Amino acid sequence: MNTLGNFIGGQAVASQSGRTAPVYNPATGEQSLQVALSSAAETTDAVRVASDTFPAWAKMTPLKRSRILFKFKELVERNADELARLISSEHGKVFSDAKGELTRGLEVVEFACGIPHLQKGEHSMNVGTGVDSFSMMQPLGVCAGISPFNFPAMVPMWMFPIALACGNTFVMKPSEKDPSTPMRLAELLSEAGLPDGVFNVVNGDKEAVDVLLTDQRVQAVSFVGSTPIAEYIYATASSHGKRVQALGGAKNHMVIMPDADLDQAVDALMGAAYGSAGERCMAISVAVPVGEETASRLREKLIAKLDTLRVGPGLVDGPDNDMGPLVTCQHREKVKDYIATGVEEGAELVVDGRETVVKEAGNGYFIGGTLFDHVKPDMRIHAEEIFGPVLAIARAGSFDEAVSMINAHEFGNGTAIFTRDGDAARQYCEQIQVGMVGVNVPIPVPMAFHSFGGWKRSLFGPLHMHGSDGVRFYTRMKTITQRWPSGIREETSHFTMPTH
Ligand code: NAD
Repeated sequence: MNTLGNFIGGQAVASQSGRTAPVYNPATGEQSLQVALSSAAETTDAVRVASDTFPAWAKMTPLKRSRILFKFKELVERNADELARLISSEHGKVFSDAKGELTRGLEVVEFACGIPHLQKGEHSMNVGTGVDSFSMMQPLGVCAGISPFNFPAMVPMWMFPIALACGNTFVMKPSEKDPSTPMRLAELLSEAGLPDGVFNVVNGDKEAVDVLLTDQRVQAVSFVGSTPIAEYIYATASSHGKRVQALGGAKNHMVIMPDADLDQAVDALMGAAYGSAGERCMAISVAVPVGEETASRLREKLIAKLDTLRVGPGLVDGPDNDMGPLVTCQHREKVKDYIATGVEEGAELVVDGRETVVKEAGNGYFIGGTLFDHVKPDMRIHAEEIFGPVLAIARAGSFDEAVSMINAHEFGNGTAIFTRDGDAARQYCEQIQVGMVGVNVPIPVPMAFHSFGGWKRSLFGPLHMHGSDGVRFYTRMKTITQRWPSGIREETSHFTMPTH
């Protein structure tokens, strides 16, 4: 059995920790390899390498850094099919969805190629007579990224392209469930000409993560994963003086107004709820139809569509399935438990994915699309993140009731409203306490040049991922006020607050 180690100082390095975790192909249930769980000492070594490499990388001209990222972008594009197959074979998502994930990651690389423009800083002539002021946006040093299983390419690519373009070095700790893609990205960065040690990958678990949160050489930590861990990351790394952006879990609602084009809304809802088997932080997991008539029509249309949902392996000859298996056997059991809980809580189980017969299922971790109706806000299947192909219908009597239900939820990652009424949409955008909002757009993931992040317990820290927030996160501003001999008017000491 192959053991995936680390990538440190520009090369693959075997781990000596003696601890490993199994990696499975979710479509077959077979173990494909094992991944090293690195020791604290090995992680410290990666941080040391990144720290030693920082001065030279920070000094390289921004244009040269961008050219390396341009080359990296070309290499990812050239190897996109291989990368998508790798993603699918460890995560389970269907091939076209894996290609989509790569495209969204590449958009951040494209954005990062233009970062010299955003890192120019600010300049004011004559803030006083003969006095000029300017601000520089300098890199921080070693930055760390810790990523979840559900986007093994895209989430790391939200982080490192921007950090590197800004002149930082990086240590990435991928999910141990699907670790191969970040390792392959590290190889492609090297092939693109990235100097050794600028980007390092350490595989592991809490032991490795804790080094990244506490080592004083690490200046900033970007995290994406579940809320309890995000909270831990934020508290620990902040108390060690680091800047942190820690993105957590989600429960995303789609409001369907009575005037919405229902066929359009249902098509959008199917993809948003069941795409990637619901293992997306922006998946819609609650449909909120406004009014009983909207709810009844929506329910009937969803039942009909669910009948045609194609569930099967992510890699097939011929047209892709609509959704693949869940990532692990344990995760499938957790999702099944939630379905049982929903029934116990009194929600109506309209379509039970546990009964779906999946062709070619073998020992894969499949579960079919599931639909609940009459879900109430205080039920656990509404309050908690399930992260599987389970859609709840939570009926609302009015627009105000829908908004109140969503605003009362602990998470605030994404949401959508489907309507033809511009006033309702505008009011929704203004009142809803959620970080990313779609108007007739089911999964409103912002483009790379905007920033990605939720509100409430979906994000800890002030700055979102990528876009202008990303550049601010990975740089530190320094402001210089200067004058030269011709601007020095008098040779005397001033004991009052200086004014110009
Ligand atoms: P997770 O929290 O279990 O793991 C995320 C990372 O944290 C992994 O690298 C893991 O190794 C590490 N980790 C786990 N336990 C740890 C501990 N005790 N101490 C230190 N590190 C630890 O999340 P997951 O199951 O891989 O991913 C799914 C979650 O990620 C969902 O909750 C989903 O909503 C969330 N997510 C959020 C966003 C977002 O943008 N808000 C995006 C993608 C995924």
